[in-house]
Amino acid sequence: DQTVDDSVFTQHESEVRSYCRSWPTVFTRASGSWMTDTTGREYLDFFAGAGSLNYGHNNPIMKAALLDYISDDGITHGLDMATVAKGKFIEAFTQKILAPRGLDYKIQFPGPTGTNAVEAALKLARKVTGRESIISFTNAFHGMTLGSLSVTGNSMKRAGAGIPLVHATPMPFDNYFGGVTEDFGWFERVLDDSGSGLNRPAAVIVETVQGEGGVNVARMEWLRALSELCERRDILLIVDDVQMGCGRTGEFFSFEEAGIKPDIVTLSKSISGYGLPLALTLFKPELDVWTPGEHNGTFRGNNPAFVTGTKTIEHFWSDDSLTKEVHAKGEQINTAFTELAERYEGISTRGRGMVRGLVFEESATASKVCASAFGAGLLAETSGPSDEVVKLLPALTISTEDLGRGLQIISDSVKEVIG
Ligand code: PMP
Repeated sequence: DQTVDDSVFTQHESEVRSYCRSWPTVFTRASGSWMTDTTGREYLDFFAGAGSLNYGHNNPIMKAALLDYISDDGITHGLDMATVAKGKFIEAFTQKILAPRGLDYKIQFPGPTGTNAVEAALKLARKVTGRESIISFTNAFHGMTLGSLSVTGNSMKRAGAGIPLVHATPMPFDNYFGGVTEDFGWFERVLDDSGSGLNRPAAVIVETVQGEGGVNVARMEWLRALSELCERRDILLIVDDVQMGCGRTGEFFSFEEAGIKPDIVTLSKSISGYGLPLALTLFKPELDVWTPGEHNGTFRGNNPAFVTGTKTIEHFWSDDSLTKEVHAKGEQINTAFTELAERYEGISTRGRGMVRGLVFEESATASKVCASAFGAGLLAETSGPSDEVVKLLPALTISTEDLGRGLQIISDSVKEVIG
């Protein structure tokens, strides 16, 4: 039976529910870049589980591994016992992801989801340095639990917590003032000024591209300057790669192109390759000051997610073909968006790899474009502080035909809304 009454959501689910408002239908099945609702209608998915389905829905390679694992009575819990599934994942991740990139990190499985990876990163940085505060950025998004929310630069989201718990100081993200500078001299002067009240922070946490914040792209020079600042001042650098990692910008890690090596890295969303919850906090071996059990939890390892994650690494990350594909398809989106920006007043575009934003000066327009696209069978979400950006996050594996089809729907929707 594939029917369910709409009222179960509207009457019994909390007002906090969100995506089911933008996409008012009941979904039932999905394959690749397509989702189907209970009426049999198909939707092209340009949101890919908020970036947790970089390899599409029900990818047959991971699906087969998962089905085999379940039919063999594989372990399904998420405690951090040693299991074959976990061992194979660690082996694949260290040998095929870390080693070829010259990266040496210890791996922590901090909990099921992105915010757990961020919380562990913040706690670890504070424990290692014995310092309290964290530097975060304007328009940053790091999660909804109290620590990660404290470093999130969105007052609407922060309002849900009353008052933030962790001491976090916001700094302007790259290009915040519209200018181009990677000179952090001003920050160092404030840090050295005993009258400024700024204590040396434990860490700086940054996204290379702010996804939720409106597809704000940090330049490589800026990231390098930030990394040098952290090194000079003995501040830990945390790169939150929860949304931009796993190939979204082309390389496996979004910071690779800048040639930096963060002290701590967070990963989640697409790391299982199948939409199953899994999160990793990576840190340089000398930072491993945890004592056994100091940061535990029931769901810390998701064995089925290890199985699909291992397959994903083996299948997609043994050469650079996916990276090349991401660059080519990213250009395909960029070309379409640049055309729209040239054709219409008040539209611009920005992005990297396969995260691209269509930015509307009139913020309400972005939501209208997404609503119109939904009517034409396309799922795309808005982002940015005023929801002024249509953010595209399609599966990296989408066919160029489907990508073209979706881009045409967006173009038609823009025409319909502001035509
Ligand atoms: N960090 C970043 C950069 C994110 O984009 C997100 C989720 N959008 C998170 C952390 C939090 O992840 P989760 O929603 O899985 O807790």
